Amino acid sequence: LLRLDGVSVRFGDRAVVDAVDLEVAEHEIVCVLGPSGSGKSTLLRVVAGLQPVSAGRVLLGDADQAAVPVHRRGVGLMFQDHQLFPHRDVGGNVAFGLRMRGASGGSSAARVEELLELVGLPGAGRRAVASLSGGEQQRVALARALAPSPRLLMLDEPLGQLDRGLRERLVVELRSLFSRLGTTVLAVTHDQGEAFALADRVVVMRDGRIAQAGTPLEVWQRPASEFVARFLGFEN
Ligand code: ATP
Ligand code: MG
Repeated sequence: LLRLDGVSVRFGDRAVVDAVDLEVAEHEIVCVLGPSGSGKSTLLRVVAGLQPVSAGRVLLGDADQAAVPVHRRGVGLMFQDHQLFPHRDVGGNVAFGLRMRGASGGSSAARVEELLELVGLPGAGRRAVASLSGGEQQRVALARALAPSPRLLMLDEPLGQLDRGLRERLVVELRSLFSRLGTTVLAVTHDQGEAFALADRVVVMRDGRIAQAGTPLEVWQRPASEFVARFLGFEN
């Protein structure tokens, strides 16, 4: 579904993303892991069309995305600070996601409720954003990102602000939600436990390059380098 061919992003003389090749298959969940500053968010922004590349190609479903603007790429992006609109209620936030796709007004209320049920917040449409807990806000952000039925859903530290117990529960819920929906996911996290629980495949980045890619088991059992081994060891 997604293919990156030698993608580089340079700021000045520094390559923040450095000749990255990466493929994500349909229905696959890939998690990008790596230390702060290794280029994870930049990679997502490239795929979303928010960050121009210095070199290389981004292909979605075999089509080169070079000339395709953000709103035409059919990708959903959920940022770390989930950026709900505080002046709109929960339903308004989710409906905003629907409008990105130009959904018709008639079916919109029913679809909002369907999405809220999907993330475990049935009937919450009228609630004020500020009255929700952090975890509930995260679910609303997820519902909004899922609203346009993106062919590729990208999550940047989706559970970033939450405490460990809640993260562990939500990660299990997310995994089953995505497998039920058949969603293709490219997610970024610096938490290896989260990546290993969520992903079919993990990609470890270092200084803009892919240090290792493989199934969680492969990476865990056979770290490709001292760096990967140390990164895994230090994170827990
Ligand atoms: P974190 O885990 O902290 O979110 P990250 O892996 O997501 O880190 P990026 O946000 O992709 O890292 O940034 C990678 C590097 O690129 C950082 O050193 C950052 O300062 C630099 N960078 C990102 N955007 C720009 C920009 N517009 N101009 C200059 N440098 C940038
Ligand atoms: Mg980041």
